[in-house]
Order: sequence, then structure tokens, then C-alpha cells
Amino acid sequence: MAEKIVQVPDMVTVGELAQTLDLPVTKLVGELFKNGIVATINQRIDVETAQIIVEELGLEVQLVAEEIGPVARESRHELSDDAVERPPIVAVMGHVDHGKTTLLDAILDTKVQEGEAGGITQHISAYQTVRNGRSITLLDTPGHEAFAALRQHGATLTDVVIIVIAADDGVKPQTVEAIKFAESANAKIVVAITKSDKDTANVDRVKSQLASEYQMNPEEWGGDTVMVDVSAKTGHNLDKLLDMVLLVADMEELKADVDVPAEGIVIESHMETGKGPVVSMLVEHGELKPTQFVVSGTTYAKVRTLLDYAGRPLAVAGPATPATITGFKEIPSFGDRFIVAKNEKAARSLVEKNRLTQQHEAVHSRVTGSDLLRMMNKSDETQDINVVVRADVQGSLTSVTDSLKLMENDELNMRIISSGVGSISENDVRLAQSADAIVYGFNVQLPPSVKRMAMRTKVSVRIFKVIYELLDDMKEVMESKLAPEVVETPVGKLKVLGVFRTTRDSVICGGEVLSGKITPSTLARVVRGKTDVIAEVEVKHVQRQQQEAKEVFEGEQCGLELKTQGKLQILEGDRLELFTRELKARHL
Ligand code: GDP
Repeated sequence: MAEKIVQVPDMVTVGELAQTLDLPVTKLVGELFKNGIVATINQRIDVETAQIIVEELGLEVQLVAEEIGPVARESRHELSDDAVERPPIVAVMGHVDHGKTTLLDAILDTKVQEGEAGGITQHISAYQTVRNGRSITLLDTPGHEAFAALRQHGATLTDVVIIVIAADDGVKPQTVEAIKFAESANAKIVVAITKSDKDTANVDRVKSQLASEYQMNPEEWGGDTVMVDVSAKTGHNLDKLLDMVLLVADMEELKADVDVPAEGIVIESHMETGKGPVVSMLVEHGELKPTQFVVSGTTYAKVRTLLDYAGRPLAVAGPATPATITGFKEIPSFGDRFIVAKNEKAARSLVEKNRLTQQHEAVHSRVTGSDLLRMMNKSDETQDINVVVRADVQGSLTSVTDSLKLMENDELNMRIISSGVGSISENDVRLAQSADAIVYGFNVQLPPSVKRMAMRTKVSVRIFKVIYELLDDMKEVMESKLAPEVVETPVGKLKVLGVFRTTRDSVICGGEVLSGKITPSTLARVVRGKTDVIAEVEVKHVQRQQQEAKEVFEGEQCGLELKTQGKLQILEGDRLELFTRELKARHL
């Protein structure tokens, strides 16, 4: 008899399965019980388990999992033959005050808002502009960490990096970071030497700095790095800059599939009163539309509003288009992938699957390979630093926690015991007190009552507005916890020629200085035979010709009073190797 093929969700509830198979729930529950599975009507079981039960029940049914798309964690997208050209995704980076914001303003011909309503700091802001009928997607972030954190999530978002350098200031630390980022992300570089309108501008100096120090030679000097001098103030060369970005992007084949369920990356998310989670995303493939069901991690949305970068309603957001949507049940995480599901049932099922995967990972990631190595190497020396982190938006929270985790090393184990979006609360302080933790706040408030509580309980609460400063602070905390380095410096060697008195905790002896010098207030190893170290002692006093001496040099003879740990028999012919020992604070 031919088997009946029945489609069920990948993780199906006992109730749904009973309904699909037209069986009483009790019968299924009973059969599961016989097989050692205690299940309720809402319990989810996987297709394999369901199939076993179905067979045990003697039904001629073959269950197959519905296609609900991949777990939205990493893109498994392979371009099809129908892939179409997409706009380049361009990150704008540079040293602070070099004119990044002004340049973006000028390109977009709008005012790039410093944060949105209520002064919310954006994590990554995305915009689009059009040049010669072609779209260019521009990404901006207050700090480079956001991009770095995205890469930690396995996302390579950028095709081209515009590195903004002020013509009157030249290459600065964050410029170098930007260059390194572009290289590690395998992105093409276009250098924008801005503020070229200024009297103090020296475009050639910037070019030669890049050429000599960073092996980036401008094309006009025979190199292959595109450099454009621009002015955001006068508008000089802005079109040329965009032309160059397109030209550089054309060297890569930038394509995307359109005829697939939309997928991409969450680049910013926060709560807004009256709207709930507001989530910015960058579509990579497919077309995102209102009323579709979007899954990201363990939450999903029926897209209620779909807006473009300037807050205008969109009918469709295609590849490389930034879009902001509302409709999520909970805030998805910055850097997480999203994917459109067929319907609400599929969305829920995918959420459930992601939740199980996360649980599985949480259980299995408790001890990772590197943890194990760490434990083997330094089991008793590893110290925990416990922290509670609060940030204004999900995006910056992820960025702070990711950056903090990167600071861990063999000796210091960073434990983020709690993290969340919003003001620091009494609960945070209570938790920090019980776990001996530090509370870090990023762009958040510390209500006076909480501050009083923190002072009372001596919990350290540190609030920052700049991520570098927060990380520097953590570095100091870590350095203060590092075991100091022991530095030993040899001073001199002496051969014992006679032992005059030995007491319970001291020895008075005399000898000849073999090398270096002998000085009081040092330590000495007592060496017998060739290399046997038999004790470590303190050199209390040194005498030359019955006089206290500060230094006695090679070839001279002297008397010594040594302080010993317990009674120590020093013999004629033993050697003393004098040294000093210092403890030095270590730096990361
Ligand atoms: P950011 O920190 O890199 O975003 O720098 P801003 O865009 O805030 O610019 C820093 C300062 O440089 C501001 O005072 C700008 O007015 C000024 N500035 C930016 N671009 C230009 C330019 O092309 N010409 C001149 N003369 N000043 C500029």
C-alpha cells in the first residue's frame, strides 16, 4: 500500500501532529509515553521522533518537514544564475573631526541626524544616494567597533570603504584603524581627502604620508589606490568621489538574488514608545515587503511599517537597501540575520528552531576548546572579572559586550553576568554586589536612588558615552587585577671561605667576591656543588674589615650576616648568588 506523505513543521507540537493525523491527542501522548517521552499537548517534537511514533501506531504515513528556510544565523546563500546587479555597500570611516558627518551630509544633501528622536545613538546608520541612475548604499557608525562586532558575527557587510582624511591633519590613529578594517574585511578602499578648501590644506602631504607609511600609492603617482580631494563645504569633487566609488565597486561583481525569500542583517534595533521594537535592517537578497513575516533569532515580526533610510514608506526593499521596520514582538540583536518566512506558522516554527539551537549552543559552548586550554595551562591563576552591562540600545549593548569579551586573556576571565537595554536599576546594583561585579553603563542614566544604593553597597558603577573610554577603563581594571611580574636582577656572586656562627635564623660567614658586587638588603641563593640551590636567604649586613659596607667588589673579601628560614647549615665552598627581586605592575 502506498504511504501517504504528510507535511509537518520541522518541530511540530503534539497537538498539531494529532490534528494533522486526525488522531486523539491522548493516543499520541500515550504512544510517546510508551517510548519514554513524557509530552504535553504543546510539547514540540522533531520530525524523526514523530515518524517513529507514527510507525509504532501502525499508520501508513510518511512525515516530511516543511521547507521553512535555513536557521537565520548565517547566510548560506549561493547566487543563482538569475542574480542581478545590486548597489555597492559603502562604509564611511575616518578619524574623529576629519569631516565624516559633514561629507555624508553633503553627499546625501540632507542633515544626517545625530541620533533619532530622543537622542538615540545609532549603531550603524544606513543611507542611500543615487549617482547617474545608480544607487549607492552608505553606512555610518559612531565607532569602528560596530563593524568589528558585525564581523564577529560573521557578517561581511561592506564592499567599499571610503576613508575620510582631513587635508589639514593627515593620517591619525583612527585612520589607520579604518585602513586595517578595510583590509581585514576585504573591502576596496577609496580615500577621500577632505577639507581641501582650507588654507591649511595640504593634499599632497596626505598622499605622500599614505604612500610612504602605508604603501598606498595614489593612481596619479603610478599606484593603485584611488584618492580624491574633496570639500564638503564647497561641494568640490563630491560627484567624482561617487564616480570613483562606483568604478571601484564595478571591479567586483556585486550581485544579489531577488526571487528568493528576503534575508539580510539587523544593523540597529531599539524600543520606541508607541511603536515597540524599531529595527533597521539591510536586505541582502530578495525583496522585503510590508505584511511579510520576518524571523530574526528568537523573535519574529509581521512587518507593520516598512520605511526607507529617510523615514519614507517603502513598498519593497530590495538587495542592498536599508529599511526600518516595526512589528517585531521582541528586539532582535544587532548583527543577527533575518529571513522572511512563508507564513506565521513557519515563522513561529523557525523561531522555535532558533531557540533550541541557541539553547543547544549555550549548553555546548560552556567549555570551548580555548577554555579548555586555558584551564589546562592556568587552572588556578585565572581570575574572574564580573560585569553587569547596561546600554541605551541593543546595538551599542552588543558592541560593548562583544568588545569586552575580546579583552579576555589567559589570566582574566570576563564574565558578563547580566546585560540589557535601559537605565541602571537597583536590581543591577544588587546583583553586582552579590557577585562582586562592576556595573558598566553606556549612554544610560543612573537614577539618584540607584546611585545612593551603589554608594551604600560600595558597588562600582561606571558610565561612559564613548566606547573607547569604557574599554580603556576596563583595561585599567584588568591591569590592576593582573598578578604582578616578578623581575629578578643579578647583583654579584661570592664564594664562602668560612662560616663563623649559625643560629636558628641567621648565619654569619665570610668569603670572596667572585663577580659583580655584594651589597646589603638583597637576596641570595645558596648554591652547593655545581648547581644545587639549597636555600634562598636575605643578606642583612655586609662588612669589610669589621666595618659596615655598602658595596664590596670583585676580588675583595667581606663578612656577611644572612637571615635564613629556619636553621641552615652553610658550608665552606658554597656559593652565594646575590640578586634583587621586584614586583612590577603589568600592562595589557
Ligand atoms: P566627523 O567627526 O568626522 O564627523 O567630523 P565633522 O563632519 O563633524 O567635521 C568636523 C569639523 O570639520 C566641523 O567643524 C566641520 O564644519 C569641519 N569640516 C568638515 N568638512 C569640511 C570641509 O570640507 N571644509 C571645511 N572647511 N571644513 C570642514
